[in-house]
Amino acid sequence: MKRALFLDRDGTVIEDRGYMHDPALVQLLPGAADVLREVSANGWALVIVSNQSGVGRGLITPAEMDAVQARFLETLRGTGVEITASYFCVHRPDENCHCRKPSVFHLERAAREFGIDLRSSWMIGDRRSDILCGKNAGCRTIWLSNPLFPVVEGLADFVAQDWPQARRILAEHAGL
Ligand SMILES: [Mg+2]
Ligand SMILES: [Zn+2]
Repeated sequence: MKRALFLDRDGTVIEDRGYMHDPALVQLLPGAADVLREVSANGWALVIVSNQSGVGRGLITPAEMDAVQARFLETLRGTGVEITASYFCVHRPDENCHCRKPSVFHLERAAREFGIDLRSSWMIGDRRSDILCGKNAGCRTIWLSNPLFPVVEGLADFVAQDWPQARRILAEHAGL
């Protein structure tokens, strides 16, 4: 069974510029690509799980979302990082869909599709819903600290201020 690093996208791998409607907004966060390259070189899957409710709210079109994602993948590829798979929830919170984080739907789907062992996998995100999602799926969690979205102390297994710190946590606790 494979291990995965589950990743929120906006605010975690790239800067969060609100509802991401324009590929020009795609900007990698410092250190993210280096860590992802190393994790991938160790045989882990890299799986993006992203809530894009801007689509359901009518604030961004599906084509805009696709263009942003294409730029995101292309930017990472330029640094030598291949994302294994990306999953999106495009619904509004009030639609009560089955796939919006903190739902584990996409993590369990990825586990089936790629033979991933959730219990030895990790989730990194900048919001409470990312941490809850990872915990609910049985993964260990790192909160990439974001003062705009405080997470109750103790909810995440680990807190990192930035990617280099996340890298140290993975080295120490995931044997990376
Ligand atoms: Mg985020
Ligand atoms: Zn959904």
